[in-house]
Amino acid sequence: MIFVSKTKSSDDEDSFSCDGCDICCRYINIVAMPPKDMQDIDRMIWYIYHGAVIYVDNGVWRVNIDIPCLHLGSGYCKIYNDRLDICRKYSNLTCERYNMSEINVTVLKTKEELLEYAKEELGIS
Ligand code: SF4
Ligand code: SF4
Repeated sequence: MIFVSKTKSSDDEDSFSCDGCDICCRYINIVAMPPKDMQDIDRMIWYIYHGAVIYVDNGVWRVNIDIPCLHLGSGYCKIYNDRLDICRKYSNLTCERYNMSEINVTVLKTKEELLEYAKEELGIS
């Protein structure tokens, strides 16, 4: 079972500037159930084969896919006044642009990295 998500924490959009940045409009990030067995790992390898990257953040597994929004212009949102609720609530207080040094996630980009992590951290092999 997979849940669409984009972490939200604040409605305060003005404390840091988004000027000239469109990083968070260029991907989708989906929370996934942690794998329990090789069948689940196999499914995640399938994601990786399609260009996804797996993030593990304090036990939360996420599937990240770099794909820009249909409404992204050259560095700006073409439907800004009508943008989605998820976009309105995504905070630049905690976003990746201003908080990269505080983001501590395991990044699994290849089948081999995923298999090694599953074996070492979950005992799945
Ligand atoms: S919320 Fe952060 S990543 Fe998104 S556009 Fe603003 S500064 Fe860039
Ligand atoms: S609707 Fe606008 S703010 Fe939301 S992801 Fe698309 S371009 Fe970005």
